[in-house]
Amino acid sequence: MTVRSTTLPALIERYDALLFDAYGVLVHGTGLMPGAVEARDVLEASGKPWFVVTNDASKLPATAAARYRRLGLDLDPDRIVTSGMLLAPWFEREGLRGARCAVLGPPDGVRYAELAGGEIVPPDADFDVLVIADETGFPFLDRMDAALTTLFRCIDAGRPPRLVVPNPDIIYPDGIDAFGFAAGSIALMFEAALARRYPLRPELRFVRLGKPEPHLYDHALALAGTRDAVMIGDQIETDIAGAIAAGIDSVLITQGVSLADLDGVPVTARPTWLMGSLTA
Ligand SMILES: [Mg+2]
Repeated sequence: MTVRSTTLPALIERYDALLFDAYGVLVHGTGLMPGAVEARDVLEASGKPWFVVTNDASKLPATAAARYRRLGLDLDPDRIVTSGMLLAPWFEREGLRGARCAVLGPPDGVRYAELAGGEIVPPDADFDVLVIADETGFPFLDRMDAALTTLFRCIDAGRPPRLVVPNPDIIYPDGIDAFGFAAGSIALMFEAALARRYPLRPELRFVRLGKPEPHLYDHALALAGTRDAVMIGDQIETDIAGAIAAGIDSVLITQGVSLADLDGVPVTARPTWLMGSLTA
């Protein structure tokens, strides 16, 4: 089965709503992806609902919108749905409001945990929940070591904390043909350390909230008021898998993290469409 190429105008014509990944589609670590501004203009002119659906939990929507604006992309914060926004319903579901919560990440990442009802404590104080909000914005090794030490202490005392990472991405595009480690890699470091110390405790793992779980899509589709939608993303394992889990069509942009070669990808895990970039 060959996956056919498409274009943005064809997608706007075909679907009632459009969802866009941020990194690798609209932006990268230091600037805008090609065609981002033109895409925004065409979408606004179409009158169709469209949202940015991102695993980035390091920025509140207003902060992300301000960054896009500085880069030249004027975007309403209400169009941005982040995995950080999933912390609040998760805290609620798990009965964790008021729980002592250590957060690794920048101030906005901490704010997400606060808004979810967590009582923020430093990583060297006993905590009930460990949130990895991002790989940036804190003295990395110092706080990683402090969190690991506290984690082991709480587990040894019979009070294993809950572990959650809103953004399960392993890598992200830091520029055109430049890459960086993302928050999911940090969670893997903790899981490797936990497996070394507690080889018989496989339950000591992180809950992953963002794509490829369908929660973010459900949130955005509820805002859009339709499920006749398509997701445009650059990662098969998150954007495309999440769209399939949510039951919507998907487009793989082949200028970001995943390669255009789909030969090794099972047919059921493939995108509906391919696009080189937003401009082609
Ligand atoms: Mg991406």
